[in-house]
Amino acid sequence: MTALKWGLIGASDIAATRVIGAIRASGGDAVGIYSGSGDRARDFAASHEMPNVTTALDELLGWDIDAVYISSTNDKHFDQAIRALRAGKHVLCEKPLALSVEEARAMVDLAEQRDLILAANHHLPGSPLHAKVRELVNAGTIGTVLSAKVAHAVLLPERLRGWRLGQGTPGSGVILDITCHDASVLNPLLGTPVAVSAVAVQQAAWNTGGQEDAAMTVIRYERDGQAPVLAQTHDSFTVGYAKTSLEVHGTAGTLIVTDAMTQETEGQLVLTTESGSQTIDVDCSDDLYVINLRAFTSAVEGTGIPTASGKDGLLALKVALAAQESALSGCTVHIN
Ligand code: NDP
Repeated sequence: MTALKWGLIGASDIAATRVIGAIRASGGDAVGIYSGSGDRARDFAASHEMPNVTTALDELLGWDIDAVYISSTNDKHFDQAIRALRAGKHVLCEKPLALSVEEARAMVDLAEQRDLILAANHHLPGSPLHAKVRELVNAGTIGTVLSAKVAHAVLLPERLRGWRLGQGTPGSGVILDITCHDASVLNPLLGTPVAVSAVAVQQAAWNTGGQEDAAMTVIRYERDGQAPVLAQTHDSFTVGYAKTSLEVHGTAGTLIVTDAMTQETEGQLVLTTESGSQTIDVDCSDDLYVINLRAFTSAVEGTGIPTASGKDGLLALKVALAAQESALSGCTVHIN
């Protein structure tokens, strides 16, 4: 596998805790870091043994690198990705890809025009558990799919209670943070998302940012020649003691994944049909972020596809933006 040379854009928690390790585990080299703050860039580079630091994005784009990993706050993704693509770099961008459909589409179009890989760093669709669910559903194991439910209610760790909660920060709130991830799992499983209704609230006493921290969403999916499918998601920063899960219900059976929506690969998949319930064995030994980095690397090599392409990231964003609009307006929002 090619040893990709990576420039990191954003001295973030997710880069530090997950993605630098995954870059290295996929055979890549983390060449250096761009941050808006020189001190943060230097501290980050020292902690993670990277030789280069800069506070000028154009300087990073001039380094000898093949690809950039963007994990800045959500409002910066669009500008940084466009500049990286114009500089001829492949882009792995954190979710949400951008703050509007138009921006995300411009990123996808530019990557296509320049023949570069653009991927969204959605870690869940690459999970072996979710891949197995898609395989079983596509094989007709549970008959015709009727509905799905995602429980993705977690307690936001204290260290992450910054920009995610701030109403004044573009791109904050639980819907762009978590509902977006749910959509990255549901879209490839259920068909085309066509309509979204959501209710969002602010619950936590520690949420002084004013942005919504809990949301429930219903999505209508359509597939050629089949009855519409209903999906329901519960996304929260405020729930401390729940397990995450995915349920998929069909005319001939039900699939339930517990621990389905975490950053770890662990989890259990149970199939129930008229013959009873059985646990399906799934090899969960690979780290989800390493799976993503390997898939991205093979896409650059031309031997594979990313876990979530730019187009997949765009569709997940469409669902999340529709949920956000619905929560604000109280109306169902239709997706073209
Ligand atoms: P962080 O808050 O850790 O970092 C985001 C930005 O905030 C950094 O780029 C940095 O700016 C700035 N920053 C970091 N630390 C400080 C500080 N101490 N003081 C001031 N500014 C600081 O964000 P996350 O890692 O939580 O999220 C980053 C992105 O990754 C988001 O788009 C998020 O949605 C996504 N994400 C994805 C996950 C996944 O599983 N795919 C999981 C978690 C997050 P600068 O650029 O200037 O260095």
